[in-house]
Amino acid sequence: MEIEIATIGGYEEVGRQMTAVRAGDDVVIFDMGLNLSKVLIHDNVETERMHSLDLIDMGAIPDDRVMSDLEGDVKAIVPTHGHLDHIAAIPKLAHRYDAPIVASPFTLALVEQQIKSEEKFGVQNDLVEMEAGETMSIGEENELEFVNVTHSIIDAINPVLHTPEGAIVYGLDKRMDHSPVIGDPIDMDRFREIGEEGVLCYIEDCTNANKKGRTPSESVARKHLKDVMYSLEDYDGGIVATTFSSHIARVTSLVEFAEDIGRQPVLLGRSMEKYSGTAERLDFVDFPDDLGMYGHRKSVDRTFKRIMNEGKENYLPIVTGHQGEPRAMLTRMGRGETPYELDDGDKVIFSARVIPEPTNEGQRYQSERLLGMQGARIYDDIHVSGHLCKEGHYEMLDALQPENVIPAHQDMSGYADYVDLAESEGYKLGEDLHVTRNGNMIQLVE
Ligand SMILES: [Zn+2]
Repeated sequence: MEIEIATIGGYEEVGRQMTAVRAGDDVVIFDMGLNLSKVLIHDNVETERMHSLDLIDMGAIPDDRVMSDLEGDVKAIVPTHGHLDHIAAIPKLAHRYDAPIVASPFTLALVEQQIKSEEKFGVQNDLVEMEAGETMSIGEENELEFVNVTHSIIDAINPVLHTPEGAIVYGLDKRMDHSPVIGDPIDMDRFREIGEEGVLCYIEDCTNANKKGRTPSESVARKHLKDVMYSLEDYDGGIVATTFSSHIARVTSLVEFAEDIGRQPVLLGRSMEKYSGTAERLDFVDFPDDLGMYGHRKSVDRTFKRIMNEGKENYLPIVTGHQGEPRAMLTRMGRGETPYELDDGDKVIFSARVIPEPTNEGQRYQSERLLGMQGARIYDDIHVSGHLCKEGHYEMLDALQPENVIPAHQDMSGYADYVDLAESEGYKLGEDLHVTRNGNMIQLVE
């Protein structure tokens, strides 16, 4: 059976992930993501009304025109998890393919919301839910399997396409977490079994390939956060926390520790409401009944007024804005645009790392300065990464023993350390180690 891989997006950058695998006459697409920084750099761009081709020209979504060179029928579109760089191009591209979108329950709910907010295209693809551990036939001879992995968003999977020539394992995005705060540990047993059955190709998330050692578990970030928050138990002023709104495990820890130190947590900001509301509706979390979640400007401002009236010392606002995004809640608080007033010595907890990208770094710097000018004390970097570091990459190669490896989810300089690691494990660049770019085809079996 002919096996071909189209590396469509996310092979020259972190963002706008998209890969297609052709096995005989069947094609499966993994991820259709957005490169958010390409959108944010233009102020006031509303992608909801934009045409795909304009977004492709901006470098915001994958240029999927290369798909016309793949001879086969697309049988499934498979987003691996709910981060925007993996799902947010679905409303712009999926309607071009007569195929269902197959995803885990939380991811699928987020995809559904993306499709609903789309204003340019009518996306009619069937939405099919599949859980980790389950499989689905793809055409006559191929089978799709979801393996449970751990990442900075719940319900992440790595899809595996089993073909007569061996398995294609799509490894974006994950870390190896054996004690995640929510959900099951990564299913390394299954990866090892798949390795024994035979892996034709492994596509790897190289985000942290240049970092030594092992990515700590979410339970480590949780302990760190607990230490910081418990140390503030006697502080009788304002404490504000921010984190990735899609990071449900972290939000859950913030909510829990707020209550432990005698403060009522409240989630503020549109995306806080969206992700936590979805997780609660699907029973991934069990928040306290009285946990407030407010997204609209008016209800947020009303909540801030209530907090100021009843005393800041009784509350923990958990807000958007960990990267200093200009229109996010924490940035507005820093600019003094909300009814919440910061006093000298008030605490701001960033349970997030700055995404190392000039736009984020600049905006975050500005946000911290503004908060600092009002007297806020900053607690930074209470976080662990969602991506494998070097020893995780080594363990995955050891478990899967793939015949071919394709590094992904980085730019060219970001691949260098992964290439070194793979070569030290016996792979040869240009033979079975394929460093590639957006828009290329790699023929694995002719
Ligand atoms: Zn991700």
